Amino acid sequence: MNIMELMYVVIFFAAGYYSGKFASSYWGIAGWIIGIPFGCFLALLIYWIIGELVYACNYNKLPICKKGRCQSKDYEHVEIRDTGWVFRCQCGDNYLLVGNRFLALLEDGAIHPYMRRARFRPWQEDKTCE
Ligand SMILES: [Zn+2]
Repeated sequence: MNIMELMYVVIFFAAGYYSGKFASSYWGIAGWIIGIPFGCFLALLIYWIIGELVYACNYNKLPICKKGRCQSKDYEHVEIRDTGWVFRCQCGDNYLLVGNRFLALLEDGAIHPYMRRARFRPWQEDKTCE
């Protein structure tokens, strides 16, 4: 567990605790029973909404190229295939964007996993096999 995951867990339990404490001031023990799950649910809902917003803001950005020179703005859209969109970076390398995966198109026509994106995280190395 890294520091960010620890922070999420602490916020999750703190939301449950304070929600329960607030509700118990009105309804006593029933407030704790209702307030704790409500606070935890609310924390998860806010976490999900923030994740969706971060994801939406970064959705159109492409990862840095394999040679480490080209940023998202340096890519040129080349073609649309049935499987996804083909982009070419300034180095001349081609990539295929399929959903949340950015695959390297090699000159011999082979396709290799390169990067993939997940919620709350920047592009990460794609370690799955193609
Ligand atoms: Zn490049």
